[in-house]
Amino acid sequence: MSQKVILVVLDGLAYQTAEQCMGFLQGLKAQGGTTLYKLQCELPSKSRPLYETILTGVPPVLSGIVHNDVIRNSNQQSVFSMAHKQGLTTAAAAFHWFSELYNRSPFDPIRDRYTNDLEQLIQHGCFYHGDHYPDNYLYLDAETLRRRYNPDFLLIHPMNIDNAGHKSGVDSAHYRNTVRVSDGELSKYVPTWIDEGYQVLITSDHGMNADKSHGGTLPEERDIPLFVIGEHFSHQADCAPKQTEICGSICELLGITDHNKPVTKKLLLDAQVVNKKHVVAVGS
Ligand SMILES: [Zn+2]
Repeated sequence: MSQKVILVVLDGLAYQTAEQCMGFLQGLKAQGGTTLYKLQCELPSKSRPLYETILTGVPPVLSGIVHNDVIRNSNQQSVFSMAHKQGLTTAAAAFHWFSELYNRSPFDPIRDRYTNDLEQLIQHGCFYHGDHYPDNYLYLDAETLRRRYNPDFLLIHPMNIDNAGHKSGVDSAHYRNTVRVSDGELSKYVPTWIDEGYQVLITSDHGMNADKSHGGTLPEERDIPLFVIGEHFSHQADCAPKQTEICGSICELLGITDHNKPVTKKLLLDAQVVNKKHVVAVGS
């Protein structure tokens, strides 16, 4: 199985808000095109530690990226490093901390904002360094990278939901409306991604609390969504994925077989089943 994958990490998106405010994604769910799972993020419920968890499958206490000020390259195998080793094309439109984890550290905006370097683990990058960088610009950055470089693995990481949460808290019109706007942005792109055969995962690093922060163990800080879209997912209700299994599951989709990352086996459809579905579809 070798599929192209888009991973969208909506920074600071709590599960309940995703479930209630993302009408486009919920509409896809109603048509069987997507499935929403509830995940618990690892601890601490902070951004940089959990970027590393999502991309490597390693919890913060083991990766050493235990707070936001650990400014260094990851020393773990990541989706980016394994895809690079396999000769796949990688890209990211994301906050500059991803550039620091997987490309060069510390971030030099003049050198690194626009990255086109086949030697880097993220070969094609557009990295921002302000939390208020507009999500609609970021989605355009990502779509430009996708169309220009046809990546096998594309990471998209908007920050405005987290930024709204820090200004107004989880239970605010500001936070909820920012989630609705992000859902609207996704509705402009996801249909094309589906048509072009991408397998899409949309998740979050952590949630948000009423104190306009995150970091601890409250349900609204730890409960996060995972939407999966694509025919290579099983769309089974009872598969209980973990945040540490996202990395390995993406590796499986990308056809990277020699990894030792945990995988949510029930999340993915067996390649033979997908092929059979195609035969049936052609025959009917
Ligand atoms: Zn935050």
